Amino acid sequence: MSWDEIKKARSRLSREEGAVIRDWGGRVPIALIYPNSYYIAMSCLGLHALYRLLNSYSGVVCERVFWEREHQARRSSPLSLESQRPLTDFAVLAFSISYEVDYINVAEILKTSGIPLYAGDRDGRHPLVIAGGPCVTANPLPVSPFFDLLCIGEGEPIVPTLLPILADGIGGERGELLRTLSSLPGVYAPQYQPATPVVRQWSNDLDNFPVASTIVTGDTELGDLYLIEVGRGCNWGCRFCMVSSTFSPVRFRSTDSLIAQAEEGLKYRRRLGLVGPAVADHPQIEEIAVRLRQMGAGLSVSSLRIKPLSRILLRELAGGEAQTIAFAPEAGSMRLRRLIKKGISEDDILEAIDMVAETGVKQLKLYFMIGLPSETDDDIEEIIRLVISGKSILDRKQSGARVIIKAAPFVPKAGTPLQWLPMAPLAVLNHRLSRLKNSLQPRGIKVNSESPAWSEVQAVFARGGADVAGVLAALEEASLSGWRRAVARCQPDVDFYAHQRWHAGQRLPWAIIDSGIAKGRLELELNRALSG
Ligand code: SF4
Repeated sequence: MSWDEIKKARSRLSREEGAVIRDWGGRVPIALIYPNSYYIAMSCLGLHALYRLLNSYSGVVCERVFWEREHQARRSSPLSLESQRPLTDFAVLAFSISYEVDYINVAEILKTSGIPLYAGDRDGRHPLVIAGGPCVTANPLPVSPFFDLLCIGEGEPIVPTLLPILADGIGGERGELLRTLSSLPGVYAPQYQPATPVVRQWSNDLDNFPVASTIVTGDTELGDLYLIEVGRGCNWGCRFCMVSSTFSPVRFRSTDSLIAQAEEGLKYRRRLGLVGPAVADHPQIEEIAVRLRQMGAGLSVSSLRIKPLSRILLRELAGGEAQTIAFAPEAGSMRLRRLIKKGISEDDILEAIDMVAETGVKQLKLYFMIGLPSETDDDIEEIIRLVISGKSILDRKQSGARVIIKAAPFVPKAGTPLQWLPMAPLAVLNHRLSRLKNSLQPRGIKVNSESPAWSEVQAVFARGGADVAGVLAALEEASLSGWRRAVARCQPDVDFYAHQRWHAGQRLPWAIIDSGIAKGRLELELNRALSG
């Protein structure tokens, strides 16, 4: 036990508002684990929602656990934040996983905590290990051998059926408990393969489950904001995007519920962060933005669609001290935007930038993907040309706004129409990223990029099968070189998972999941993409 970690936990707790500190007596202790740092985790609304939901049961004590750099460096096991207990003290470990690459940290957390990594090596003496989150919902296979249970879909409809049975049976025979839990909707127990695919669960009335910052702290990425979830799902159907297969159908919270949450949030923070994949699509978004501003709130939105773009919403964001407006054109050429079904022309993009120039917002962020299927060097030139045109509009209007480009390699994701297509070779991605940087940075446009090598790791997790778990088990160091050594030892087919085109007829590793979107529909969209 590290006194440094205990001191740090207590100091963090002292800067938080909203943490739940409970006596353990007679309660089921659940560790809610976010496999990344506190700084990143505490800006994830999914974690806040689960913390609130689990602690709403009086028979439960739910405490948070994070994975910090110092754990990695010392290979030491993390303690819970609230009572600074080791993971072996908990009856249940519930992992909330947002990103595939965090699978590496999941394996490290279990290994360093002295808990057998593989579910088959655990029994009633060990905590029950559960996971959920969008990447696990899309394709749980690469981590499935480690978990007793995987939650497929949203937590709100799954937890109320799962928790009472789990709490009753946790001290009893483990196999019997798992068999019972595996029959619940949305619960996948890898040791008890289901006869039919596990159906993704979603909540049909979001107003029953308000999701906002449960704990307020300044020690996180978005620490100056009180976050409020506006809705889930998205109707635009971009062909690379996992939102449809993990969060459909589209649902929005009512205006009254959002205003009520904003009133609560303004007790803690002056600025509100409106969160969701398609915030601007809320049917009353303009009215909501105006009312929030009248309440004295500053506003921020994660990313706006380029079309339709509301002048009123932009005005309220700018008036509400939004520092940055972010758009995602995703591709520079119309041909590739058509392929991914982005549905926006170059004129739409430049018009949106023109509208931003008039607001006085000081930073414009543009998201692009590189290595999209059929991309050539000419498509990269189109990104460069488009960004330079956008920057000259801002300069002409003397807006003084900085332009930042975020470039990420295309990674095929399970459950999307592009799931059968390959990621581009690393040499091609590196060459195109250099071209972007060399052309844009001398013109004062900052280019931030995701590492192609780490994106390849992400692709292996996104389309991988259960054999990939062997690499995670063999990993001795959470670094690219550690990954490569483990791959050399375990020999999974990295090229197949990341870089090969798959036939539409072949069985997909994630065929045990029913996302609610028919394979035929995805195939149809794929064919439309490829036929232009
Ligand atoms: S990329 Fe954005 S707009 Fe497109 S489907 Fe996903 S969430 Fe919707």
